[in-house]
Amino acid sequence: MRVLLGRPRALGRVAVSGQGWEVRAEAGAAFEARDVKPLLASFSVGSRGIRFWGRDTGAERLRLRAPVAFDLDGRTYEGDLIVRLAEGRLEFVNELDLETYVAGVLANEVGPLGVPSMFRAQAVAARTYAWTRISARDARDQAWHVYDDARSQVYAGRTMPSGTDLRYEDMRRAARQTEGVVLTFQGRPFVAYYASTCGGHTTDAGTSRLDPGTARDVLQGVPCDHCRTSRYFEWTEEVAEEALIEALKRDGRPVAPPLREVRVSARGRGGWAAEVEVVAGPNATVKKVPGPAFRTAAGLRSHNIDAISRAGPGRWRVRGRGWGHGVGMCQWGALEMARKGARETDILAYYYPGSALHKLY
Ligand SMILES: [Zn+2]
Repeated sequence: MRVLLGRPRALGRVAVSGQGWEVRAEAGAAFEARDVKPLLASFSVGSRGIRFWGRDTGAERLRLRAPVAFDLDGRTYEGDLIVRLAEGRLEFVNELDLETYVAGVLANEVGPLGVPSMFRAQAVAARTYAWTRISARDARDQAWHVYDDARSQVYAGRTMPSGTDLRYEDMRRAARQTEGVVLTFQGRPFVAYYASTCGGHTTDAGTSRLDPGTARDVLQGVPCDHCRTSRYFEWTEEVAEEALIEALKRDGRPVAPPLREVRVSARGRGGWAAEVEVVAGPNATVKKVPGPAFRTAAGLRSHNIDAISRAGPGRWRVRGRGWGHGVGMCQWGALEMARKGARETDILAYYYPGSALHKLY
């Protein structure tokens, strides 16, 4: 599978470890370089394709094959690095096998408090999510399948988050113990969404404007008391009216000041805000904003909103719960279940009701 690393850029330096590495052009061009010293590769945008150490390669795509690993932006990755020219910039893409990818996701998605059965549950969910991306009909031809951040799943190769004593070997073990296992519904893997903290009830994919694919019944939301210990189970935030108006405008939902009323006008499963009405301007015009879009505009942790009220001149107070989009597994809840002795199969059956486990290989 292929992961886009960071943002596209004009220049990239890659450190390579191990003997016998090579850079080779793909898709027609003839460039090839082996064991260049020092063990550092420099790529930039040239007038004729990608430049390697300042030299035109004529290639729009280069593959760096590292015998052990390579480093980019202070992170260490296994697998190949593909450097490709896209709209005048360089994209750095890590091509690797699914199990290595899953191990690289675990540390970042579970965190330092993880216990083994939570890591295994997360491994299955992460693998299932990735599998739906790489088994899509047009996946073979896609330059990359997932981002390396929360737009997909947070992935940092074999580099562990700083300030933790997590070990990559333990991530590999959790991946290996569930090797090839994915979640299915009616025999097909589905997009196994998950989010940090649900705040009492997970919600359905529709309320969070996520595509459930064929697994609407699985991603419909379940009660969850397990995340009560999270500091984000309940929260109160103040939002500046001016900033909210500005953010709504950037999102293509302009409203005229002043805001007269802001209220949750439709709720989905678990009470999550499916829609928020903003009453604004001299004519008290009503603007309907989807819950997730309101969350983003207001800079909230989630759209699991209990109440919105005026906090003072130009300020609004939002009481809400949880962190994230609220669909699928509640990660904090899963962690608490695991701490109390739940197995990964119990956790997955709880948050993805009606799903089954299937071993792909
Ligand atoms: Zn929860």
